[in-house]
Formats: sequence, structure tokens, C-alpha cells
Amino acid sequence: PVFPAGAIPGPEQTDRWIRADRARLIHPNLPDSRTDRTVMVEGRGCHVRDSSGKRYLDAAAVLGMVQVGHGRDEIVAAAAAQMARLECFHLWENMSNDQAIELAVRLTDLAPPGLERAFFTSGGAEGNEIALRMARYFHHRRGRPERTWILSRTSAYHGIGYGSGSVSGLPVYHEGFGPPMPHVHHLTAPDPYHREAYGGEDVTGFCLRELRETIERIGPDRIAAMIGEPVMSVGGAVAPPTDYWPRVAELLRSQGILLIFDEVVTAYGRTGHWFAAEHVAVTPDILVTAKGITSGYIPHGAVLTTEELAATVTGSTGFPIGFTYTGHPTACAVALTNLAIIERENLLDNAMKTGGYLADRLAPLRDLPAVGDIRQAGLMLGIELVADKATRTPLPTGTAPVAQALREDKGIILRGNPRSLLINPPLVMDRGTADELADGLFSVLARVEPDGRIRRS
Ligand code: PLP
Repeated sequence: PVFPAGAIPGPEQTDRWIRADRARLIHPNLPDSRTDRTVMVEGRGCHVRDSSGKRYLDAAAVLGMVQVGHGRDEIVAAAAAQMARLECFHLWENMSNDQAIELAVRLTDLAPPGLERAFFTSGGAEGNEIALRMARYFHHRRGRPERTWILSRTSAYHGIGYGSGSVSGLPVYHEGFGPPMPHVHHLTAPDPYHREAYGGEDVTGFCLRELRETIERIGPDRIAAMIGEPVMSVGGAVAPPTDYWPRVAELLRSQGILLIFDEVVTAYGRTGHWFAAEHVAVTPDILVTAKGITSGYIPHGAVLTTEELAATVTGSTGFPIGFTYTGHPTACAVALTNLAIIERENLLDNAMKTGGYLADRLAPLRDLPAVGDIRQAGLMLGIELVADKATRTPLPTGTAPVAQALREDKGIILRGNPRSLLINPPLVMDRGTADELADGLFSVLARVEPDGRIRRS
């Protein structure tokens, strides 16, 4: 049943949903033994409500994507108007549609100079699949079909398609799923907080040496591309040292190896820029986006490329692959309205200012025994939790119990990887909401024991 916004479905309806959820749904990453569910029913701005009426601060912007906040009527109206006019059409062969064209123009106008063409997808993994295939196909079309190797990094997350899952750097995405995509090599990711992982060497120096040795070992003329997030998101909101990407890009370019930036999380204002490529001062050959392109109101994504790359992979016979939903006009209309809101409301500026304010508010948390490191780029923040500050050992329980306590005790939703809490709030967040978040974090993190247990308040 549809209930008016603000109404609460009630306990009977909630029970029915929870029973049906357990019986009929498959969730990612949820063991059978866990029987509780939180059923979300509405949202406004930075807050959402569940079916019991409990209000939460959505400090994750769902999955790092609701840039303009929840419940924007303007986006609802744009989607409805486009659906009423032409709900969908495709871009295969010479078919096109006005919304896809307008969005391609808008995105390539916003993108760093040199990225001049757009290919549309329905999400991040799809975008990385396209980027990997484009890179290999580019070399194939240039008469270098042996350039098939892809370099990636440990602890990277690029989605769970066959290619995107293979280049993701965490074993959990590989074990039990049969052979991954061949010709993938994972390099060490740069993480300035974990100096111990680089054997006393400078972090960039270590990574560059490893990259150079890897290129020599595989052979430069067998490598298609390197893929990486300019600032790692799921990996812990980890920005590399400032000289890392410029030096990596220079080395790759000298060897004819393409650079792919996965900006699925970082694009559209997350780090205070339209694209984090600007944050790290490097323009890649291929830039993959999704999530914030529509603020998550509808699935969509865009892969931006140079003219040279686009011209080579299309060529006289065309780029032979695409998706059913490539260039979906309703998704493109939503994206255009979303980008207009980001611009009109100066949300890049707000990400910088509120991100800086939040970082200042969180700075005293560094004195807590459980807090090892706090990282911030715009409104992308990570808090690394430790059992021991001196050795930087992670909590034995991971961060999940802390995230759960934040949710239950403080009504704050955020996600964590095993080491770090990840904070990616909507870019409309104001100082009052940042205070609510900082106070909640302080209250819970002050009670974390070295064994990962949380003392009662
Ligand atoms: N790349 C990055 C950096 C991501 O964080 C994600 C998802 O969180 C993806 C790719 C995958 O995107 P999707 O889940 O839309 O396929």
C-alpha cells in the first residue's frame, strides 16, 4: 500500500514486510543468521525514516550518491515529465534522443579539458566494464591486440561485474567465483597512514618503483591500461600523497598505457570538485562515473573519454557493444536536473566548506584511543579505528559493531570497511547536521574498547 509521506505504516505492516523480506529477498552481504531488518520508507534532505517512524541521519547518502539530498520534488517532476513524453529509447546504431544528447554535452562541458565524449551506462560496474573493454579495444584497433593486461590496486573496489570484479582488489570478490578475468595485476595501493606497509620507503617512491618493475616484467607492449580511484572510497577514503597520480600518469603515458579513473563515488562534487581528477591534478584517458550523476534517484552512469579514444574504438565499423539502457532518456533527464541543482545550490562549495567544518569538529576525536586516523576530502571522510595506535592494528571486530551502535543509539547511518568508518553525507548537509553527526560519533567512539566492544553509555 502507498501511504502519504510522513505517515507511519505501523507494526503489523512492518512485521509482514520483515517476514516477506526474509522469505523472498536475497540481500548482498547478509548472513541467514541475522533476522532483523530496517525497512526504509521515506526521506527528506539528509534524513530518512523507517517503517517504525524512527528518524536517521543518512551520513552515507545511501551508498555515497544522494548529492542533492532526499525527496527533491524537482527531480520527481523531471522524471515524470520525461516519462510522459518518451519514457525510454535506445542509442544503438543511429538512434538517439534529445536527453542523451543534452546530457553528453553537459557532462563533457563540465569534465576536465580533453574528455570530450560520453558513453552511458546504468551504474558503476557497467561503467568499469565498458572502460576496460574500451582500453583493450583501443589497442586492438591500433594494431596492438597483445596489449591486454590491466593494472589495478589492492583494496580497490570497482564493482562486481566480471571485469570490474576481477580488477577489484579484495579477495572476498574473487574466492569461490571461479577463474577471474585473465591478465589483471594488482599493485600496492598508496596509504600514507600505513607507512609500515612500504618498508620504510617513501609511499610514492615505493609505488612508483613497483609500477616500473611490473611494467618491465609484464612488458609495456602487453599492458592496456591502469585503473584506479583518484581517492579510494570503499578502501577507506584514502587520498594518495599529492605526487602519486601525477607521477603514475607520467610513467604510464611514456609507455603508451591508458589511465582509467574510477570516479563512481568521487565525481559530481563529493570531493568539492565536479571530478576528483581536478583534486589530484591529473586528467585520465577514460573517466567512469555513476551514482551522483542522478543523486541515485534513478540508476545511471557515464564513461567519459578523449576524442582520440572514442574515434579509435568507434572507427569505420562502430564500437560493437552497448547496453539496453544506454542513453535512457528518463535517466538522462533526471541527471540533467540533478546537475542543475548541484550548480544552482553551489553544492561543490558546500562540500568544501561543510567538509572542512566537519573535519574541524572531528579533529578532537584523534585523542580517543580507538581513533587512528581521520581523513577528509570535501564531504568524503574516513575514520580509521585501531586497537592500538602505535602499531595501527585494526579492531579485531572490524567496524561493524561501531556502525551498528551509531545506528541504534544515535540514529546515524554510515557504512564501514573492516578498518574505517566511511562518511559520505549528502552535499546539502548544513553545519547543524554536521554537529549532529560529530556529536553522535564522539559519543560512540569514546566508548570503543581495544577488543572492539562498546561500553554502555
Ligand atoms: N566503483 C567504485 C569506486 C564504487 O565505490 C562502486 C560502488 O560502490 C562501484 C564502482 C560499483 O558501482 P555499482 O554498484 O553502481 O555497480
